[in-house]
Amino acid sequence: MEKKIVHAPPTTTLEELFREAHSAKHRAYCPYSKFRVGAALLTTSGKIYSGCNVENASYPLSTCAERTAIVKAVSEGEANFQAIAITSDVDAGYCGPCGACRQTIAEFGLDIDVYLLNPQNECKMFKFRELLPFAFTPRDLQKTRATHDIID
Ligand SMILES: [Zn+2]
Repeated sequence: MEKKIVHAPPTTTLEELFREAHSAKHRAYCPYSKFRVGAALLTTSGKIYSGCNVENASYPLSTCAERTAIVKAVSEGEANFQAIAITSDVDAGYCGPCGACRQTIAEFGLDIDVYLLNPQNECKMFKFRELLPFAFTPRDLQKTRATHDIID
């Protein structure tokens, strides 16, 4: 049985999302890794926020494209997302979000569509929850906690 996609953004919106991701990749600041990444985030209200990786001479301070896009959107008052497109220069295959970005995306929902794009604009689509099974989310902080444990 064919899997039906529900609430998928219109094709023109996806085309724009993909175009924004590729465009953002060209603004990547990556003098150290030379590994350009672009991301574009689609809000449920239909806005698109793009991001690129921004490296730093102090390597751990570098920020990924996905987190750049998320920080831009949240700082503009958007925190509900329906899709993110991510692209790099990886030619054979696709580049998925790193662990830190997966945790950052999880903060905003497990049902976000993730489109991984190659430079030819071919894509693979995943539901975010497929990329981070058993994710730690804000809901975990609401769970009842034990008042005693085995070493008390
Ligand atoms: Zn990342």
